[in-house]
Amino acid sequence: MVKTSRSSCEQKSAFVLGAGGFIGSHLVRKLKSLDYYVIGVDRKYPEFSQTCADMFIIGDLREQDFCKQLFNDFRTDEVYQLAAEMGGAGFIFTGQNDAQVVHSSAQINLNILENMVRFGLKTVFFSSSACVYPKENQQDPGTPTTHEDSVYPANPDSEYGWEKLFAERLYATYARNHGLNIRIARFHNIFGPECTWQGGREKAPAAICRKIAAAPNHTEIEIWGDGRQTRSFLYIDDCLDAVMKLMASSLITPINIGSEEMVSINHLTEMIMKISGKSLSIFHSQGPQGVRGRTSDNTLIRNHLHWEPKHSLEFGLKKTYSWIADQLMTDGSKNHLPQRRDMEPVKSFDILSGCVTNFFSQ
Ligand code: NAD
Repeated sequence: MVKTSRSSCEQKSAFVLGAGGFIGSHLVRKLKSLDYYVIGVDRKYPEFSQTCADMFIIGDLREQDFCKQLFNDFRTDEVYQLAAEMGGAGFIFTGQNDAQVVHSSAQINLNILENMVRFGLKTVFFSSSACVYPKENQQDPGTPTTHEDSVYPANPDSEYGWEKLFAERLYATYARNHGLNIRIARFHNIFGPECTWQGGREKAPAAICRKIAAAPNHTEIEIWGDGRQTRSFLYIDDCLDAVMKLMASSLITPINIGSEEMVSINHLTEMIMKISGKSLSIFHSQGPQGVRGRTSDNTLIRNHLHWEPKHSLEFGLKKTYSWIADQLMTDGSKNHLPQRRDMEPVKSFDILSGCVTNFFSQ
C-alpha cells in the first residue's frame, strides 16, 4: 500500500535517512520549519531531543527488505541520505573500523538508489565529505587545496574518504542511467549543539569542548598531535541553509559545504579555553589526526549559490561549549577526565596527520 506522505497537494514531502544522527535531526527540524512533511528513518531515535519528524521509522538501511518495504510504502518528493558509520579521527583514522565503515555505507547507498528507481522516487541529496580530497594536497597546514576539481587523481587519506568518493560516483551513475535528480554536498567538519560529544565518535570541536569543560581550572588537557594541524568548522545552521540552497539549484556535481575560517587545533583549543574562562595547559600526545591541513574552498558555492556562512567560528563554539558543559552536568556520574597513564607524548610532527521494526507517528 502506498501511503500519502503529505497533508495537502502543495506540501512537499521528504525522507531524512539518518534522522537520528546529528545533522539528520537538525535537518528534520529545518524541513519542518519550511513546512515539509518529513519521514525520519534511522536505527535509533535522536539522542538529545525529540524528533520533529511527522513519522519516524526505526530500521536498518543495510537490509534490502527494509529498504524495499520503506520505498514501496512511502513516496516522497525528496530523499536526504545522511545515514553512515560516522566519527571523528579516533573512529575514522585508526584503521580499526574500516570494514564496517565501507561495507555499511556502500550497502546503504546501493539499497537506497536501487529502491528509489524501483519505486519511482526521483530526487536525492547525498552527504559526501571533505575526506574525498587527495592527501598530497593537504600536507601543508597553511595552504591546503580543496577545490572541487582537485579531487582527481584520487588519493583520499582514509577508507571513509574512498567510500564517499565511490558513493559520489555511484549516485552519478544513477543520474546518468536512471534519470535520478541528484545533489551532492562535501561537508567540511559540521559542528553545533546535539553533536556526538563522547564515546569515541566525537569530532575535534566537541572532544575539545568536553575535555575543557571536564577539566578543573589550572590542570592539563590532552590534544592529539602538535596542534599545528589546521581545519575549518561550519556551524550546523549554516550547513542546513547551504543544503537547502543546493536542493533548490540545478547543480548536479559535488560541491563543498564548509567554512573558510581555517584555524590550527591549538588556536581552536585556545578559543574554547577563553570561552570557558579556564586556564589550562596542553599536553600534546600521539593520536590519529588525518591530514596536516584542511579548509573548505567556497569559490564554487559562492559563485553558483551565492552562499556564505553567516556565523563565525566563535559564535558556534560558544553555543557548542555551553551545550556540552550542560551535558556534562547532567551526565556527571561518568568520568570524562583524560587518563594520563594511557597517553604517549608526541615524538615527531611530520605525519599529522530487517524489516520495519517500529512505526511511530507523532
Ligand atoms: P551521525 O553519526 O550523527 O549520523 C549518522 C546517522 O546514520 C546515525 O544516527 C546512525 O544511527 C545512522 N545510521 C548509520 N547506519 C545506519 C543503518 N545501517 N541504518 C539506519 N541508520 C543508520 O553523523 P553526522 O555527523 O550527522 O553525519 C551525517 C552524514 O554527513 C554522514 O553521512 C557523514 O558521513 C556526513 N558528513 C558529516 C560530517 C560532519 O562534520 N558531521 C562531515 C562530512 C560528512
